[in-house]
Amino acid sequence: MQQSVSIRDLSLNFGNVKVLERLNLDIAQGEFIVLLGPSGCGKSTLLNCIAGLLDVSAGQIFINGKNVTWMEPKDRGIGMVFQSYALYPQMSVEKNLSFGLRVSGMKKDEIDRRVKRASEILQIEPLLQRKPANLSGGQRQRVAIGRALVRDVDVFLFDEPLSNLDAKLRSDLRVEIKRLHQRLKNTMIYVTHDQIEALTLADRIAIMKNGVIQQLADPHTIYNKPTNLYVAGFIGSPA
Ligand code: ADP
Ligand code: MG
Repeated sequence: MQQSVSIRDLSLNFGNVKVLERLNLDIAQGEFIVLLGPSGCGKSTLLNCIAGLLDVSAGQIFINGKNVTWMEPKDRGIGMVFQSYALYPQMSVEKNLSFGLRVSGMKKDEIDRRVKRASEILQIEPLLQRKPANLSGGQRQRVAIGRALVRDVDVFLFDEPLSNLDAKLRSDLRVEIKRLHQRLKNTMIYVTHDQIEALTLADRIAIMKNGVIQQLADPHTIYNKPTNLYVAGFIGSPA
């Protein structure tokens, strides 16, 4: 079967520092993959390579069978959601959602249809005329997700999207992201250092250490059968 995302022998160096080294990863269509590991292990770097925000040092990235390694971010069929929301502060929620579509030359009817659908799914319809400064953190993050949603992308990339939220909002939005995935059935690659998020969201978890995937398996296997002490210490059962 054709993979949704395939990463082949991907390496990335910052100067002399090897952050990712010959990393391989195959993600099936519709799969929810969580990249889990401590701060500094290379999760964001890997995500940014997939998004095209960083040039790789070696290796290839395929999305839906197409080699995108040197393609512009906007042509890769991906949507990215950051921890810091990255909304346009001067624009209303509605404009934040529609801006990218307008730039791409899409017809107004189609833009309106997509904005309506995304705001229904994310329950942000009452917020469309507000500016980001007048939204809570959770609402801002919904708008950020909405911006990926309106573009109808094949692959969602999330970089610690809940890290800036308090515990209650974090768990609410976690449930919503799970629902969104069940509804859209697209591929999601989700970076976190939070074990609970990984265990509750993932079809498969990739445990990373120093730019290397230590174990890639479903949550049950990771939790009950960690392949080494590092994985066990990071997430596994107390044995
Ligand atoms: P994570 O997202 O898992 O916390 P990162 O991918 O952000 O980790 O970083 C991985 C390593 O690469 C860290 O050691 C970090 O200091 C280093 N790094 C990240 N970005 C840069 C950069 N632009 N220049 C130099 N080193 C970087
Ligand atoms: Mg990071």
